[in-house]
Amino acid sequence: MSDLIGLLAEARKARLKLTISSDGVLHVNGQPAAEPIARALLARKADVRAAVRFYTGNSPVLDWRHTTVLDTPQRCTRCGSPCHLLDPADRAPSHKTCAETAIRCPGRRKPAATFAGERRNIGDNGLNHEHPE
Ligand SMILES: [Zn+2]
Repeated sequence: MSDLIGLLAEARKARLKLTISSDGVLHVNGQPAAEPIARALLARKADVRAAVRFYTGNSPVLDWRHTTVLDTPQRCTRCGSPCHLLDPADRAPSHKTCAETAIRCPGRRKPAATFAGERRNIGDNGLNHEHPE
């Protein structure tokens, strides 16, 4: 549960509610048993803020516009297929769709997106939101 995507998947399984108040403060609410997950999320506030709109369903996709695109594919840490992207929070090779599936449907694996499909998704999500500290 150390990487952000895995942490958000654990949060989803624990049914934690993530919100950002109007003053920019990240709030994590849920059952007391999920406190370790909540603490881990709060320890990575800046990274969580970048993904909270996707987590809450207020954005259809993760904002990976500023991620690194690899010249040479590496194995996706989630599905094992070759991929050309690094998860921007943890800099681990990952398909964007694999990361999105892990957060939205923890435990479910789906076929990796094609490289062409990933390219289409980069910068194609229409999001531009700031994440105040
Ligand atoms: Zn993958």
